Amino acid sequence: MTRRKLVAGNWKMHGLRAQLGEIEAIAAAASRNTGVDVALCVPFTLIERAVAVAGELPIGAEDVHAEKSGAHTGCVSAEMVRETGATLTIVGHSERRADQHETSHDAWAKAAAAHEAGLRVILCVGETEAERDAGRAERVVQAQIEKSVPEGAAASWFTLAYEPRWAIGTGRTPTPDEIESMHSIARAKLSRMVGEEAAGIGILYGGSVTGKNAESILSLEDVDGALVGGASLTAEKFVPIIEAAA
Ligand code: PGA
Repeated sequence: MTRRKLVAGNWKMHGLRAQLGEIEAIAAAASRNTGVDVALCVPFTLIERAVAVAGELPIGAEDVHAEKSGAHTGCVSAEMVRETGATLTIVGHSERRADQHETSHDAWAKAAAAHEAGLRVILCVGETEAERDAGRAERVVQAQIEKSVPEGAAASWFTLAYEPRWAIGTGRTPTPDEIESMHSIARAKLSRMVGEEAAGIGILYGGSVTGKNAESILSLEDVDGALVGGASLTAEKFVPIIEAAA
């Protein structure tokens, strides 16, 4: 089964209107590089304006609430996100798991809600450094997948991202063997859950991907693209990653 590569940016808590020009430049590069899918997830406050300047480049949110509406001060539902023109969202990012104490069950509920609202889902899993040092990385990631991937997850709307927490924003990455091994374990786990559909589901790597290491990471078996934080904030840094994937 051939899977198209996806390079998705995650702006985290960065991005004011002054940065819309970066989005335009990223969108222009995405339309030149037709061999790869590109998407950009930005803060809620920037989505509508990003959509307005992004042309064909899909714009996404970085999180959604699991419920459709209700007494949840400060939260944003998947339907609200969809109404802004966003077409995807990240759920279960490790910064939300750490900062907001989100569990895999929360990520599961959010992924299901996002799908119901018509959003593509990028669901993140990944071990901490302590878990890797203790030899538990594989079990932790398998358990996260088990608990957070919604029933019926399909390639048409679902993407997994393996992001070891210790590699995020640190400049450190796992070895190629470690990445390949975890991606193949993740795909085997997915196939036990969703059967043959797993062969078509994209599995992205995330954590300190840059223009320098993108080509070697993206050429690995079972790596179907990248989820990029810091290096997605400017076209200058992000475009070489898009080009490496194309
Ligand atoms: P990083 O972040 O590329 O800055 O390491 C990746 C992520 O958190 O998705």
